[in-house]
Amino acid sequence: MKWRIAGLFFALAVCLCALPAPALAAKSVPYIDGDGNSKTIFEATEITSEHTQLTQGWYVVYGDVTISERIEVTGDDPTTCYVSLILADGCTLTASKGIGVEEGASLFIYGQSEDEGTMGKLYASSSSSDAAIGGDFNLYSHTNGPITINGGRIEARSSGSGSAIGGGWNAPGGPVAINDGVVSAYATGDGAAIGGGSNAYGYGRGGTVEIAGGSVTAISAKGAAIGGGEGNSDHGTLTIAPKKSRAIFASSGDDAEHARALAGSPFMSGTSVQVPIDEMGRKYFSCSTTKLLSVSHLDENGVERTRTDCLPVVAGDEQWKDGWYAVDSNVSVERRIVVDGDVNLILTDGKALNVKGGIEVAKGNSLTIYAQSTDEATMGSLTATTRNSGFADCAAIGGSAAEDTADAGTIAIHGGAVTADNAGGYSRAAGIGGGFWNPDGSADKADVGKGGTVTVTGGVVTAFGGWNAAGIGGGQQSDGGSLAVTGGVVNVTGGKFFGAAIGGGEGGDGGTVLVEGGVVTATTVYGSDSVSDAAAIGGGGNTDGLAAGNGADVTITGGTVIAQTYEGVSAVGAGRSLASTGKTDPGTLKISPAQGQVIAVVAGADEKGAASVDGSPFTAEQQIVDLVQSASYFRCASGGIDDVTRISAQPKGATVDEGSAATFEVSASGTGTLSYRWQQRSGADGEWTDIEGANGASYTTPATTADMDGMQFRCVVTGGLGIAASDPATLTVIAKPVFKISLDPVDVDFGKIVEGSLQGQVQPVTVTISNTGNRPLEIQVPQSEAFELELEASSGQLDPGDAVEISIVPKDGLDAGAYSERVVISGVNGQSTATAALELSASVVHDLAKVEAKPATCTDDGYDEYWACEACDKVFGDADGVEEIKLEDFVIPSIGHVWGEDGRCTVCGALDPDFAPDPGDDGDGDTDPSDQSGDDGDNDSNPSDQADGDGQKDSSAAGNVDGDKRSLGETGDGLMLPAMVLCALAAASIAAGAFASRRLRRQ
Ligand SMILES: [Zn+2]
Ligand SMILES: [Zn+2]
Repeated sequence: MKWRIAGLFFALAVCLCALPAPALAAKSVPYIDGDGNSKTIFEATEITSEHTQLTQGWYVVYGDVTISERIEVTGDDPTTCYVSLILADGCTLTASKGIGVEEGASLFIYGQSEDEGTMGKLYASSSSSDAAIGGDFNLYSHTNGPITINGGRIEARSSGSGSAIGGGWNAPGGPVAINDGVVSAYATGDGAAIGGGSNAYGYGRGGTVEIAGGSVTAISAKGAAIGGGEGNSDHGTLTIAPKKSRAIFASSGDDAEHARALAGSPFMSGTSVQVPIDEMGRKYFSCSTTKLLSVSHLDENGVERTRTDCLPVVAGDEQWKDGWYAVDSNVSVERRIVVDGDVNLILTDGKALNVKGGIEVAKGNSLTIYAQSTDEATMGSLTATTRNSGFADCAAIGGSAAEDTADAGTIAIHGGAVTADNAGGYSRAAGIGGGFWNPDGSADKADVGKGGTVTVTGGVVTAFGGWNAAGIGGGQQSDGGSLAVTGGVVNVTGGKFFGAAIGGGEGGDGGTVLVEGGVVTATTVYGSDSVSDAAAIGGGGNTDGLAAGNGADVTITGGTVIAQTYEGVSAVGAGRSLASTGKTDPGTLKISPAQGQVIAVVAGADEKGAASVDGSPFTAEQQIVDLVQSASYFRCASGGIDDVTRISAQPKGATVDEGSAATFEVSASGTGTLSYRWQQRSGADGEWTDIEGANGASYTTPATTADMDGMQFRCVVTGGLGIAASDPATLTVIAKPVFKISLDPVDVDFGKIVEGSLQGQVQPVTVTISNTGNRPLEIQVPQSEAFELELEASSGQLDPGDAVEISIVPKDGLDAGAYSERVVISGVNGQSTATAALELSASVVHDLAKVEAKPATCTDDGYDEYWACEACDKVFGDADGVEEIKLEDFVIPSIGHVWGEDGRCTVCGALDPDFAPDPGDDGDGDTDPSDQSGDDGDNDSNPSDQADGDGQKDSSAAGNVDGDKRSLGETGDGLMLPAMVLCALAAASIAAGAFASRRLRRQ
């Protein structure tokens, strides 16, 4: 490079060059020199279409200038004769027949801007034996003078026998140096794109090409892209030596599609790489320059440091080689990035890198990730997945799906929000750790796919395992590696269905886990749609009949560790399967607090059911080895002794009136955020249950009811260091007074009772009075009209829940009739009264006896049949005692005698005392038929009739008195005889009226 440096320092030196042609002078022209510095030349010659010869001095292209003849750059000593051409921004020089650079001259080309869109352009072409830029055709195989491109957009095309940039026909390439700019060289003829011309007599070898920056594309048809002309295998040298703070990516090949990165690419500033022979001579070459970033980061100890040699991560990245990379913009990479060697990655604040094919860190390589801050809101982020990317079975960060790259390498995370997510697809690789490689489909453990070495000292790491793979650890069928956490937050979820969160994939062993700090949460709980058989920390699960993985060797000296699995699977320990291979080794869990520290440990079936392990918290003097590892939930946290979660004030019992709410309060102390969970139980023997939504330091019940009396409440407080449950506090509820009595039965019907004495006729009925309220009552029984109510107790005092009886009978001597009475029983307590009504009824009927009918006779009244009550002497015309009658109205009057001619009654035969016998009468009383003819039937009283009076019965049917009276037994009479004498003629009509009267009453 001696010539170039000399050129920069002695550009203005006077030398023995041909004088330039008189031209326009431009003053104060800025340009960017070969080191990227902005400079100004105070006077330069403005190029016109007439400039076909350029001699020593400064030239500038303004506007669009086309020179149709070949431009010759001439001089007699390339170390002193410099022709400097500035391509002003936005301007174009078209050299239709190219630019010849004589062996004794040096051509420098400058731009004014780094922006590709604005920088000035130079189009140079040649279809003859001349190079587009470089040597002219000559018979002596003279090479071209040095060509140095410091900027501008240069396009050189050769379609003849010369090169695009370099030698002419049958001439080797002269020195070409590219420090910046965008250079495109196309040779469609026999020459190289950059290098030698046509190899006519063996002179078309490559020259010395140095690339220190810029973007270079060289494409040739027959010759090399950079090197010799057609058929010449001497390609000269290509040295890539990036300038300060630059890196160059370079690739070559037979064409653009098959180009591959040159070994060592990117080439870093400060290093000079001579491209190996076997990379030379290809038809395609491309390189681009990247500015190295100066980026600060926090190292593993939290100390801020700055790297000045960071390559920016860009969307096209496919490989990261040894060195430093920085994410200084939001970048999304569609492919998988392969880490080759020891790569450091800085996530700058506020920027996100999303790698959709994940990042391969295979065994033997390392990726170390840093951030610039510890603030989760601002720290940079990296999200790596392989889901739906075409990179299934590759870890999001770690091993890939190939035999030699499946084992993970070394992955260290010192900061940033790093998410490695392999969940949700069919990738069988870990989130962070092993890939999956098992081409023969064996169910045995895979030979590769192990978890690698993972270290976390800071940041927030989130990892999800793929199908049957660990979150951090092995791929499916592979063992976990080692995980050491000294800081940061690590949230890990094992993959369905057999992947541990931290440890083995399906059937894989747990590896080793060391936690000295930070917060590690490991879970295999995906939700309700699946159940994992893997330990959260430890071995992977396995299918029935295949062995699950052994547990990990876990050591916890600090930090917080939470591990949770499904019921029946160890949180820390071995995986689960129904294998017949015997018990799987649970590994070890060693809890050993650092000096001055305590570690609180809880374990249980789940978070809520976790109970402290005996002896928790552990102090530094204690070391707990081989804890039982059967719990599905495990949690531990470390801190100072004062950091342990404790109840500082227990909740107090509360007494409230029914309907009021009760409030319980707890105070707790300890490090970290304290979370509260109130529980209740029905009483001292009940089961504690969580109260939904009761998550504060105090809890207020709903309005109490009487049956809440005796309930107990407590608060479970979870802090950064352990869980503490308060003592139970008891609720006392004072019930509202209830005054209430009830009766059984409430209806008492004695039914039919016969009037008169009830002695032996009616049994007493018992009614129970219960105090169904919650206050004592004085029972009061009222008097009744028709019933006797008697309290069967010495006093009416009745306590809640107690009962007393009353005995009830109808009163003695009730008249016949229906009795229905509502009796209200009272219970009295002070001003309060409870009442209950009792319906009493009875039907009292007459005590009836039938009196047979008695017909009337001639002399005595008769009567019809009737019924008489023996109790009240009332008489009734019916058997039911409904029709009460007056007996005198019921009398059938006597009918009177009917005197015959013989003076005797034709009915009863009685002798008419007034009867005076006829003289002819023998007085024997017989009836003379002759009498009948004289009888007018008018019942007249013949004085002759009165002669009868002997009282003897006469049954003669021949009496002359008609009537329906039969002859009846006659008792002695005679008392009424004097009146009857006078009434004889009216007797028949009187009798008829009596009967009419009876008929009416019966109707
Ligand atoms: Zn009666
Ligand atoms: Zn008579």
